[in-house]
Amino acid sequence: MPNILFAAGPRMWETYRSPLKTALDAAGIAHDLRTDFAPDQVDYIVYAPSSTLQDFRPYTRTKAVLNLWAGVEGIVGNDTLTQPLARMVDHGLRQGMTEWVTGQVLRHHLDIDYFLARQSGDWAPKVPPLAQDRPVALLGLGELGQACAGALGAIGFPLRGWSRNPKSLPGIETFHGPRGLTECLSQAATVVLLLPLTPSTENLLNATTLAALPAGAVIVNPGRGGLIDDAALLAALDAGRITHATLDVFRQEPLPADHPYWANPRVTVTPHIASETRPDTASQVIAENIVRAEAGQPLLHRVDREQGY
Ligand code: NDP
Repeated sequence: MPNILFAAGPRMWETYRSPLKTALDAAGIAHDLRTDFAPDQVDYIVYAPSSTLQDFRPYTRTKAVLNLWAGVEGIVGNDTLTQPLARMVDHGLRQGMTEWVTGQVLRHHLDIDYFLARQSGDWAPKVPPLAQDRPVALLGLGELGQACAGALGAIGFPLRGWSRNPKSLPGIETFHGPRGLTECLSQAATVVLLLPLTPSTENLLNATTLAALPAGAVIVNPGRGGLIDDAALLAALDAGRITHATLDVFRQEPLPADHPYWANPRVTVTPHIASETRPDTASQVIAENIVRAEAGQPLLHRVDREQGY
């Protein structure tokens, strides 16, 4: 009977306790699920990087650390972690991100802000172009990037996508590697960042790459704050080269009250709500991974420690 340590904090424990038990029972896993065990008695750790557990060395029999978040930048560099690490991929995360990204892209595409600013009786027609005339570049073609591509493509946006490895995906013009990035950006009306934060992606949108975008482009970042060089983005916004940036994630969260993003009319800040792991579906993913590990099968969504995602 595996001992499963829940190490994601007391608030998450309240939320996850019941769905996890339900999912583990449904998967037929007799288990002991708790927030405290002697470290050398733990078989699996359900984890969030905000946890107080930061030293994995005493967890000598632990077969896997199962992260509740999609992003692993807060744990992947932990040198004490020698156990296999899996990240979260779940239906709720995908669906939430698809809805958020589609909504933000459409807001800018339809120029909804223009009409909101004219509700005092200003009859000022401005017909938006069709989606087919507004290419969207998706930086990151993983679980979330591809899910968003499905929805945006169905509306009619021409799609360009960038990833580390070459990819062939229906309905997306794909690019890879550093040279591919400039090409991918060169015809994008909107850029959506759905990359993990790693040493290779930090400050990916900087003065040089922002300059590769057509004038008037819009940035939508639900990926990670560190993907963007903030000073370069603010300069591009001030120069009017970038029309608007909708940002959900920041180097420092909560975003400090005096950060220039708050006061900039060309920036919309949302407080890291683009998509959240949903307890019911995420618990099923955790249970499935424990079933797999118990059966000696490879973990789903295992993190490549070298690549950092
Ligand atoms: P995946 O690991 O499935 O996809 C990551 C994508 O990024 C892959 O296409 C990968 O390329 C690409 N990539 C990674 N490194 C590079 C690089 N150096 N150059 C080019 N492409 C690169 O991740 P998800 O789609 O599940 O999640 C993406 C990110 O979204 C998470 O890491 C997290 O930071 C963020 N997120 C934000 C949330 C929010 O609420 N704001 C919620 C959930 C996630 P390849 O395909 O070649 O491997």
